Amino acid sequence: MRLAQIILDIPTQSLDTAYTYAVPDDLVDAEVGCAVLVPFGNRQAIGYAVALEEVDAEDASALVVRGVDPVKLKAVQRVLSHSYFDELGAACAHYLSEEYIAPLCSCVRLFTPPGGVPRMVHTGKYWRLEEPQIGPVDDRWVRLGPAAAGFEPKKTAVKQKAIVDALASGELRVAELSMELGSVSSVLKTLAEKEVVVLETRRRLRGTGAGEAGSHGARAESFVPSAKPDLTCGQAKALEAIDAAQQRSAGDVVLVDGVTGSGKTEVYLRAIETTLASGLGAIVLVPEISLTPQTVARFRGRFGDTVAVMHSRMSQGERYDQWDLIRSGAARVVVGARSALFTPMPDLGLIIIDEEHEGSYKQDSAPRYVARDVAAWMVAERGATLVLGSATPSIETLYRCDKYDNWHRVVLAERANGKPMPEVTVIDMAREFGSGHRSMFSRKLTKALIETIEAGQKAVLLLNQRGFASFLLCRECGFVPECPSCSTSLTYHEKGSVLVCHHCGHKEPVPPVCPECGSPYLKKFGAGTQRVEAELVSVLEGTGARVVRMDADTTSAKGAHQKLLEEFASAGAAVLLGTQMIAKGLDFDDVTLVGVINADTMLKLPDFRSAERTFSLIEQVAGRAGRADLPGRVMVQTYWADSCAIQAAATYDRALFLKDELPKRRLLGYPPYVRMANVLVWGKDESEVECAARELSADIERTVLEQAGEQWSVLPANPCVLSRLRGTYRWHIVVKAPMGSDVSSVLLPLFRKRKASKTVNVAVDVDPHDML
Ligand code: ADP
Ligand code: ZN
Ligand code: ZN
Repeated sequence: MRLAQIILDIPTQSLDTAYTYAVPDDLVDAEVGCAVLVPFGNRQAIGYAVALEEVDAEDASALVVRGVDPVKLKAVQRVLSHSYFDELGAACAHYLSEEYIAPLCSCVRLFTPPGGVPRMVHTGKYWRLEEPQIGPVDDRWVRLGPAAAGFEPKKTAVKQKAIVDALASGELRVAELSMELGSVSSVLKTLAEKEVVVLETRRRLRGTGAGEAGSHGARAESFVPSAKPDLTCGQAKALEAIDAAQQRSAGDVVLVDGVTGSGKTEVYLRAIETTLASGLGAIVLVPEISLTPQTVARFRGRFGDTVAVMHSRMSQGERYDQWDLIRSGAARVVVGARSALFTPMPDLGLIIIDEEHEGSYKQDSAPRYVARDVAAWMVAERGATLVLGSATPSIETLYRCDKYDNWHRVVLAERANGKPMPEVTVIDMAREFGSGHRSMFSRKLTKALIETIEAGQKAVLLLNQRGFASFLLCRECGFVPECPSCSTSLTYHEKGSVLVCHHCGHKEPVPPVCPECGSPYLKKFGAGTQRVEAELVSVLEGTGARVVRMDADTTSAKGAHQKLLEEFASAGAAVLLGTQMIAKGLDFDDVTLVGVINADTMLKLPDFRSAERTFSLIEQVAGRAGRADLPGRVMVQTYWADSCAIQAAATYDRALFLKDELPKRRLLGYPPYVRMANVLVWGKDESEVECAARELSADIERTVLEQAGEQWSVLPANPCVLSRLRGTYRWHIVVKAPMGSDVSSVLLPLFRKRKASKTVNVAVDVDPHDML
């Protein structure tokens, strides 16, 4: 008899162990990674098999030693799917659930295909099994058959003739034929019986255009890979380090610390090439916003159809098809956002994380994993290699390269084309304002913009929007309209003259007078992209320059991002104005000016990473200028011209920045010197939340005292910076532990034991990225 360990697909903390079920002999296709239907209490539930084991059915003690009561042992009822993951995937899910103190089923779900899993749905009275909504789709194709040559349709058989004519120039989808000719199925059947045509069912790949030209493999034959440039000295050294790591097969990590334009992508491409040549597969993670068609094209250009792509702007059907290509082994490289890490790539040999410092590699719902750290775990487990790339590596990564023997750092100090980094000018906006210049464009930036345009070149302007947006302020009483259910001010939108909450979407019209004091003097503060755009247009009046705005509003439609970039590329003299999304990956030869309109809004956020983020952002955006023959320049407008983050970024001096930042981190107890866990407590009732938070903090303090030691600390429960969000009250408890400590082994038992409450939610964020 076989026994299966099943993780139930029921997201509560208390169900965080696998349950043992018997696997009846007739369920031959049960294997690790399958979805199964099992009895649970007085209903049925979906579960995932994470382990299978053969035991002697005659020997009752075989069960007892495994802690299974033979009387209570129930049997798996059905196998619902093929295997979604292997033993290593199952082990990874366990690791995630422990490391990040998250429900096991939320971790297992990471490994399941997009949209393609069975679910139990409650219909009000009972539970019903719902088969996957998303699955493979087939197309019917038709082409001329062996009897087509001598075939003469009767004069009256108009449709037969039309079909044969249409097929003369090649095969077609039946759907296309019916679009042309109306219903064709009975005629096709007749023709097929005479072998005049051949009908065939073929898997369609949604969204890729593949499948239209035939099967997946057919295109690969005519594929010509893009040319490979001669490696720069730095690139060659980086590859040597990666090759050495791959030879060791010991889970090494290589940081490619290369300035913008140093050709990190070429390093990735070569490393992938070697990986594929040794029969292994590669996963490439790219920040969601840089997953543009250009990025994908660089990988497809070299490796063709063996590249699968995964990101959230694709439909579920498209993602399902890509996932399945990976599972089948047809795709050997996947380029995707964070979640691509969990795709079922057989024989994984290499993981690459581009722009590893990016915040989007932290998942903000359970399991709250850090993709970089999970990838490091995965490669260690598989004897594979992890390559991290960035022009501004995170402080944590730099620290590890310093401390750990198997974390290696290689530096690409020069751009691939040998051009110098653009010169950066810091513009003190406080001084500008003091001398009576009130525009959001300083005189220097205005002059530079006009010069750039007149030279027929391009400029990129960054409006730094994190934690920053325009809002309304009463000049008489200081009232700022807030969202009724979140503790944030409402954002003012010029278009439609409305106030919008960016957390919950609440909308209200701009009041004609102050709701508090009745004053008509309501000032619009801050500057959204729309207002900056309006001012920019007036600054550039008469120059004929095209202004392209790129922000959340203008890029929400599918493909809009791409269209705007194309518009910018094809215009001669033009200005691209945008939010953070423009800081990455733009590669236009004729961009000679980069301006940062407001560098320091992040510096003032109550977040220990603010200075690091400011430093990185400026370095990244500066990298967009002067990438080709034309020299570039960068102008950074700031009210904090003396701050170290800005001064250091302006001189490309990371050492200077770290010299200022690291002692602060050490003193205040922040990463990389400590590990943190942020315990969030939230609910609709304010006093209940406060009470639960205080109680929990006492529990945590006791546990930490008993099990961890004096170097740990538990900060008292406090309201979060965002103390109200979507109508809930939020408190948090911060736990700090020395670097390298096993936070989860101390905290996990406490949270596993905790009874879930109906009204107050608790979540743990281990290694938090954001503590608002
Ligand atoms: P990064 O990702 O490090 O910012 P990219 O990979 O985008 O840099 O490369 C910058 C530019 O340099 C690209 O246009 C790329 O085609 C080019 N490039 C990369 N490697 C080489 C090389 N060895 N020789 C010449 N050009 C190169
Ligand atoms: Zn007022
Ligand atoms: Zn709100």
